[in-house]
Amino acid sequence: MIGAQLAANWADVRRKVDAACRAAGRDPAAVTILPVSKTFDAEVVRAALALGLCRFGENRVQEIRDKAAALSGQAIEWVVIGHLQTNKAKDVARLASEVQSLDRLDLAQALDRRLQAEGRCLDVLVQVKTAREETKYGLPGEQLPRFLQQLRDYPSLRVRGLMTLATLSQDPSEVAACFRQLRQWRERCVAEGHDLPRLSMGMSGDFPLAIAEGATEVRIGTAIFGRREQPVAH
Ligand SMILES: *Cc1c(COP(=O)(O)O)cnc(C)c1O
Repeated sequence: MIGAQLAANWADVRRKVDAACRAAGRDPAAVTILPVSKTFDAEVVRAALALGLCRFGENRVQEIRDKAAALSGQAIEWVVIGHLQTNKAKDVARLASEVQSLDRLDLAQALDRRLQAEGRCLDVLVQVKTAREETKYGLPGEQLPRFLQQLRDYPSLRVRGLMTLATLSQDPSEVAACFRQLRQWRERCVAEGHDLPRLSMGMSGDFPLAIAEGATEVRIGTAIFGRREQPVAH
């Protein structure tokens, strides 16, 4: 059952993402889908691998550890999208291909140190806070220019762009405003000489708005894998 349902969901999401691109006058090839497999077990990921997916978003390092162990030998890129504690840097440096939730200097420091030890580099996106909720993580946009400057001291972190979570709201204009803010922060920082090709924004409930505002990547969990058992904090 998993495989057929997953294939149908995946095709449906790809179709909707493509439609949102066309509606926004954008090339569908310019928007990547990051399947978010958090809370789903290794067997679900295995079924997704069979569909040709190979990159998965997770928000807990322990889950990456468990799934990576269960799926060892498979070529999988694990992408950290959740709030990251500094004491998880070692596992991240060992297991992740990318971190989209970089939001503070001590985390950059810890990751860089562990990456140097592993002799590898990591793609990172800086998570910017665009939502007004207290519970949402992310660097305040005003601190972004200075933060990007500081990240130049950590050569094993390859800064590729920005990530955000929009506010939870029934009002599409409020959600779109979050995505627009991220795009504007990027424009500002690019004008200051930073290379930030990627904008990761939009989830199952709001990806068409994010695509209209310039997302290059949407992070989709529920629409691909189904409802999660327990609510998961962002
Ligand atoms: C869970 C999660 C997603 C995916 O959310 P859905 O609504 O299930 O698509 C995207 N981004 C982050 C940071 C998440 O934690």
